[in-house]
Amino acid sequence: MQLDPRSLIAMAGFMSAMMAVVLLFMRRNYPPNIRGLDYWAAAPVLWLVSAVLFGSRGELPQSLTVVLANQALLLGAAVYYIGSRRFLGHGGGWALWGSVAVASTLVHIWLTYVTPSYALRVAIFSLLMTVLYGAHLRFLLRHGDKGFPIRLVQVVLALHILVLLTRFASVLVGRAGSDIMEPSPFQTAYVGAYVLTVLMLSIGAILLATDRVRTELEHLATHDSLTQTLNRRAVMQLCQEELDRARRYGHGPSIMMLDLDNFKAVNDTHGHQHGDAVLVHFAACTKSALRSEDRLGRYGGEEFLVLLPDTDAPAAHHVAQRIHALLQAGHPLDCQLSIGVTSWQGQTDTLDAMLARADAALYQAKKRGRNQTCAG
Ligand code: GH3
Ligand code: MG
Ligand code: MG
Repeated sequence: MQLDPRSLIAMAGFMSAMMAVVLLFMRRNYPPNIRGLDYWAAAPVLWLVSAVLFGSRGELPQSLTVVLANQALLLGAAVYYIGSRRFLGHGGGWALWGSVAVASTLVHIWLTYVTPSYALRVAIFSLLMTVLYGAHLRFLLRHGDKGFPIRLVQVVLALHILVLLTRFASVLVGRAGSDIMEPSPFQTAYVGAYVLTVLMLSIGAILLATDRVRTELEHLATHDSLTQTLNRRAVMQLCQEELDRARRYGHGPSIMMLDLDNFKAVNDTHGHQHGDAVLVHFAACTKSALRSEDRLGRYGGEEFLVLLPDTDAPAAHHVAQRIHALLQAGHPLDCQLSIGVTSWQGQTDTLDAMLARADAALYQAKKRGRNQTCAG
């Protein structure tokens, strides 16, 4: 099947329209803290405008079908790049876009009206787009994660840069043709690749935003909103998984139950908000005393659970002492706490039994005068 450039451009317009509808819908309905969606939604709208203008070549004046059509295409790519920056928490991007857009406008006006040259226009536009996509790719390589959506966008950008450079090379070897509508293999390949790029970049944006929402929902479902520690269900599940692992490998975890001392009095004396701040400070200090594989979860009110994988009793005791010390370092939100600690006792040990031992040890610590650790 031989596809002529005009049909391919119509296809690009159609894809852009579809993607714009999806992204605009997402922008409206996704949480506002997912940044960048407004820019990502604007990109296919601009690409749609560009496709309509390119498709009208011969019917509308060149100011629209050449100058504005190319500008809309470039602006779409720039706006998409700024969307990626916003999404990853970065501002800026306008300086690069501004200079490229101004350069592109001047070049198109000059090479359309003053000394018309289709080949030069193609060459310079290809290079400007390469700069823009190159900056975008570099930004994503530096600041993006290694997840599939980011990788997809990176691959699409890299492939499109290759297409642009090939198009630039086609000018150098005198194969650029004389108009975008001329059905040559080079034109067909370029416009065809452009259609795919429009589609895949929009899909990339959709996947990125969806993945972010999923991650945030997962975080909300597993974390306590005040202290940002794991919630009870999540930490209990991790404890259970750790015990299952212990049964397989023969060495197990320690568990600590932590309860802030006289916390009711803290609330009563300084107010509930101060109490909340103490809880946040406590969680941050405790996390800093733990190794990366240890887990801290909020068991209830001012009671917390720590899971120390693959840790024996003396090592767990050492961690408990570190927590006591960190919370008495002189910070205005410092507090005292009692800790009950217990270690895995072999194949027949269960989570319920460990929690009961830790609880009993915590009770002991309270009974002995608080601000100390007891083992159970
Ligand atoms: P003990 O030393 O025996 O543990 O005494 P306590 O006062 O710490 O224990 P008690 O169980 O009597 O009081 C716990 C208090 O913790 C009561 C409750 O209002 C407070 N609390 C629970 N959750 C929160 C919270 O999210 N924020 C604040 N500010 N206070 C909380
Ligand atoms: Mg308490
Ligand atoms: Mg309590």
